[in-house]
Amino acid sequence: MNVKEKLFQAIHERSEELVQLTRELVAFETLNPPGANYRECIEYLSKRLQTSGFYSQMVRAEGAIGDSDIHPRWNLLSRIEGDFPGDCIHFNSHIDVVAVGNGWTKDPFKGTIEDGRIYGRGACDMKGGLATSIIAAEAFISVIPNFGGAIEISATVDEESGGYSGVAWLAEKGIITSKNTQHVIIPEPLHKNRICLGHRGVWWAEIETHGKIAHGSMPFLGDCAIRHMGALIQTFEDRLFPKLDCRKTNFPIVPNEAKRSSINLNSIHGGEPELTNENNSYSAPCVPDRCRMRIDRRFLPEESLDEVKAEIVDILEALKRERPGFEYTLTDLFSVPSIITDHHKPVAKAVHKAINEVLGEEPEYVISPGTYDQKHFAQISNIHNCIAYGPGLLKLAHQPDEWIGIQDMIESAKVMACTMLELLTKD
Ligand SMILES: [Zn+2]
Repeated sequence: MNVKEKLFQAIHERSEELVQLTRELVAFETLNPPGANYRECIEYLSKRLQTSGFYSQMVRAEGAIGDSDIHPRWNLLSRIEGDFPGDCIHFNSHIDVVAVGNGWTKDPFKGTIEDGRIYGRGACDMKGGLATSIIAAEAFISVIPNFGGAIEISATVDEESGGYSGVAWLAEKGIITSKNTQHVIIPEPLHKNRICLGHRGVWWAEIETHGKIAHGSMPFLGDCAIRHMGALIQTFEDRLFPKLDCRKTNFPIVPNEAKRSSINLNSIHGGEPELTNENNSYSAPCVPDRCRMRIDRRFLPEESLDEVKAEIVDILEALKRERPGFEYTLTDLFSVPSIITDHHKPVAKAVHKAINEVLGEEPEYVISPGTYDQKHFAQISNIHNCIAYGPGLLKLAHQPDEWIGIQDMIESAKVMACTMLELLTKD
């Protein structure tokens, strides 16, 4: 048996364990918000990895966004050193999951197995990927105990809300650094035959239109901020949406529809507070003097953040010239540029080769429509040799009856193990 056959056999021997580990991870209700049960889940992983020979560090992102005594933000970094110096390969997974939502036919935290699939919130995004990387590492260590360099496995929090108390925090504190870590794989569910090189850019902003308050029976004495916002939305319809729709990338962004530049009108509010359980006042006596709208602009690698912002400012300024009384304020909320790893980087090449060997096919290079923690590795740790690779179908993420295929996990584990073989051993 050659070394690869031994690796594959070691993974097959662990396939039951892979299923069990995934189900146990799904059973932790690590919902974000609010960021529940992080410590319990991290402790469980820390113990397991210690048994496999990893040195584990549990760190709380104390005082970071979202951290509180009720919902502390605990992260795990586990590392195992090889027999001789060399590169470190780091697998990073987030343990937080989004709200369950409606429409489930299975228990979202039971890890029900049916037709070769494990069902549960987070099974696909991305506890299945986390379990896959752990089993791949354990199988690799058992077959090649005298490897070089190091393997790191991190389990981090809050990816679904920006990763500030997770990867960003570990990077800022120097716990993840480009000195300790040379190759990064994030097992997000992009599918077993795809290498995800990065993501589109994002800009979130708030636009406020200003008016003048007056008695609702005499609107001519005021100036309605909501009508100004209506005019802005109409201008977006006429001048912005068609333009964005024509702007198409040459990069392999998936799904196909995301190859075009896009803007989502996220929320809007003006005038009286919304009717809610707490506020049940039906009064409507005034002309609104302000209206606010949040926009979510996703942009292509070919577009720069400055151009994207300038395009919106140009529309606002034009409206100011054309529409009497139009006044606005524009506030930046959040932005990340497009982050894309060169496909010639060593980690991308090693995974490419491994996919060839394990699946007997050419991998597809893709770019994600939305951002994920790769941005923090790139922007804070200055680690650009980073990709996302993991089992699961992206379209199932955040959906009811989310699932992950057991066979897909096994094949991805083989790809990960072959990648370690490529990067951590010398012939
Ligand atoms: Zn995810």
